[in-house]
Amino acid sequence: MIPEGSPVGGFSGIFVEGKVKERNMISDKIKSSLPDSDSDCGVVVMGAGLSGLSTGYVLSKNDMSVCLLESSSTVGGLSKTIVHGDFLFDLGGHRFLTKNKDVENFVRDLLADECLTVSRTSKIFMFNKYFDYPLRPANAIFGLGISTTLKILFDYCREKFINIFRKPRMVSLEDWIVGQFGRKMFDIYFKGYSEKVWGIPCQNISKEWIAKRIDGLSLWAAVKNAFFKVSGREIPTLTDEFIYPPTGIGRISDRLKEEIEKKDQVRTNTSVTQIKHNNFQITDVIAKNGKAVYSITGKEFVSSIPLTNLIQSMQPPPPDDILEAASKLRFRDIIIVTIMLNKESVTNLTWLYLPDDNIPFGRIHEPKNWSSQMAPEGKTHLVIEYFCFEGDAVWNSSDIELTDLTVQYLEKLDFINDNEVLDSCVLRKKKAYPLFSVGYTNHYDKIVDYLNKFSNLHIIGRGGMFKYYNMDHAMESGIEVAEEILNGHSN
Ligand SMILES: Cc1cc2nc3c(=O)[nH]c(=O)nc-3n(C[C@H](O)[C@H](O)[C@H](O)COP(=O)(O)OP(=O)(O)OC[C@H]3O[C@@H](n4cnc5c(N)ncnc54)[C@H](O)[C@@H]3O)c2cc1C
Repeated sequence: MIPEGSPVGGFSGIFVEGKVKERNMISDKIKSSLPDSDSDCGVVVMGAGLSGLSTGYVLSKNDMSVCLLESSSTVGGLSKTIVHGDFLFDLGGHRFLTKNKDVENFVRDLLADECLTVSRTSKIFMFNKYFDYPLRPANAIFGLGISTTLKILFDYCREKFINIFRKPRMVSLEDWIVGQFGRKMFDIYFKGYSEKVWGIPCQNISKEWIAKRIDGLSLWAAVKNAFFKVSGREIPTLTDEFIYPPTGIGRISDRLKEEIEKKDQVRTNTSVTQIKHNNFQITDVIAKNGKAVYSITGKEFVSSIPLTNLIQSMQPPPPDDILEAASKLRFRDIIIVTIMLNKESVTNLTWLYLPDDNIPFGRIHEPKNWSSQMAPEGKTHLVIEYFCFEGDAVWNSSDIELTDLTVQYLEKLDFINDNEVLDSCVLRKKKAYPLFSVGYTNHYDKIVDYLNKFSNLHIIGRGGMFKYYNMDHAMESGIEVAEEILNGHSN
């Protein structure tokens, strides 16, 4: 079992290279070239990813004046869709699914007829073989061999038996998975991919993110699902279908922006550099647009920018222990390499996971399998995810090196020939995943306790709250804060 839509968080700006265009860039450019000046905004929302946009949308619909400040040239944050010539792609395929009916209806109403239901077919490539994801018994038994399967089941039973007599250590990701699935299953299915995604040993990854993320999922539940096909709603990580807009996930953000701009402002290319406060009240923020620097006042301030950046931007600076705690929270970064191909199709998969150490990237998706509108007729593209830390060898590789490396491995995997390559695009995304190392909660709780003292500051979203949020959770957090503000306002 491998977590889908794996590790994430806030980030700043996206590189615009060659023919890459972010959606709405042209109209955004015109808007952001309007003179910006000191202003009062009612509610100031920092960051226009899905969480900030959801806050802005709900407030604007309820006639409360709101202003969104976004450092990038377009909205959507991690959930945006890139336009590269005639090709469209997300920053790693983003499927929308939720257990929250209200959030589902919110998205369906927003997208109206721009809403596809896509079937999910994912595989894991390891030991030079393809395995179904979620695991299916026949595939697992014949793929791994009966003796390995028996070892998995034996390990699982042994773990459960031992746990009757001793309370298992439950600190790290490794403890949690071995406790739930047994050691053999951990070694085969979890270790390689998790360490590739997070960049640290599983013993140092806090159990908290996965316990929440695959809540209710145990080997028993996975096996039961494989045999009896329980409804995916009961186990969200195993769901077979998801919602997807025909022109990419960024359409959700674009629609939110369109609605907000009927009455209020979304200021792109506008970076919040200082958050000023006095007596545990935010007074104003300093924003920068090109060379223009201006102050924006408001009654309420909502932040979806990475939690660590929020702390570092506060003026006067928070106490030393809070700054110290913020310096201990880390994010994982991502590089997306997209290869455009002169061929009809490569796979029939939604995602392909590659836990193997010998392959430098972790996941592939082919956008055309999500919506036919993502690539021009007769052509396709593959989007490859490299998990890394800013400043490491992968991050510092040049675009050409990364493209060559990717093509070389796609050839080895028998997916492409290099004479089929039409074009490529490399995008680096900082702070894509909050990194939950063992003990991070000590630092996190300290920061949140401090921020809770502010009467008019609200934190939302994945990087903003330093939580392993998917799109639906990010939107939910934004909607909840908007409702809180509206309720406070009407009292
Ligand atoms: C590779 C990958 C795959 C994923 N797949 C899925 C999936 O399949 N399904 C799913 O539901 N979720 C998926 N996610 C998670 C999803 O992307 C996030 O949950 C969601 O986009 C978070 O939205 P947000 O608004 O909380 O944060 P963000 O998208 O991070 O938005 C924060 C915004 O703040 C802006 N900002 C930062 N600093 C400043 C500043 N100083 N001033 C102004 N603006 C600033 C940023 O530019 C950004 O636009 C995936 C994530 C990744 C990385």
